[in-house]
Amino acid sequence: MSRFNLAFSLMSVIPLLTCCYLITVRFFSITILKGLNGIYFLMALIVALLGLLAGHELIRDMIKRLVDANTKLAQLNDQQAAFVGNVAHELRSPLAIFKGTMDNLADGLHGPLGPGQQEPLAVCQQEVHRLTRLVSDLLDLTRIEAGKMPLAQRPVVLQDILGTVVHAFSALAKERGLTLTVDLPEAPAIIQGDPDRLHQVFANLLGNAVKFTKVGGVHVQLTTVPDAVQVEVADTGPGIPQEDLGRIFDKFERVGDPLEEGAGLGLPIARDIVELHQGKVWVESALEHGSRFIVMLPVRRETP
Ligand code: ADP
Repeated sequence: MSRFNLAFSLMSVIPLLTCCYLITVRFFSITILKGLNGIYFLMALIVALLGLLAGHELIRDMIKRLVDANTKLAQLNDQQAAFVGNVAHELRSPLAIFKGTMDNLADGLHGPLGPGQQEPLAVCQQEVHRLTRLVSDLLDLTRIEAGKMPLAQRPVVLQDILGTVVHAFSALAKERGLTLTVDLPEAPAIIQGDPDRLHQVFANLLGNAVKFTKVGGVHVQLTTVPDAVQVEVADTGPGIPQEDLGRIFDKFERVGDPLEEGAGLGLPIARDIVELHQGKVWVESALEHGSRFIVMLPVRRETP
């Protein structure tokens, strides 16, 4: 279909609209269609209908082309996700072997290390750890996007999870001169969900808080609100500029110090896991005023 058809059909709408306007808005009366006006109106209507008829096929063609392009894009997206998933999967085993071998070397299982060997080995261990985390994040992301992340559904006491996560980061916080405080209610806050995945969410939030905060500390608080529980991870770190708040939950988005370790996958994964639990996560932050990440999880009552 030519551009002429499109122009013709669009132009034909104009007399149609003018007729409708004249009848309904301007004169409110059908009597204006009498005599010559009626003939003009009929002609305009015929032109408009002819135009629409001519344009109909063009519009159908355009819609078909859009649907085809969309299907092709979805296929490409699936292929790309499958490729990333496969590569990540294939990298897992050799990385586990690297890690095991390096740990054995560091532990002296292959004999004592020479004076200049410990430091380069520690660097290699750190890099393998970083790569292992990246590979595991990529695998998680492809699984989530394919709707194939297995999620356990069992009662989870949030105090237990938060206690373990805080304990895991307490040494690092201390090493960095930060305070790490926690405020948990005594009554068990129980939700239905996957303890390992929830652990991953809070480990990411706490890990970021400790990583980005240079002075001050991190506070973790659990509160119960009607039919939900709310976990807050607040820090006295650099904060996040207002204009970046919307994108830090997107894949590979990083703001602030580019030298800090990370690939920008932790928050999107955390958000997806929280949403798989029918919850939501958001951030309140301002530059130089710290950040407060809040996770709200519904307390789902077991159906009798
Ligand atoms: P990364 O692995 O890079 O930390 P995330 O997805 O966990 O990836 O976080 C994305 C970005 O959000 C980070 O690179 C950082 O710029 C910002 N961010 C996350 N948490 C904090 C925080 N507590 N304080 C300041 N910036 C943060």
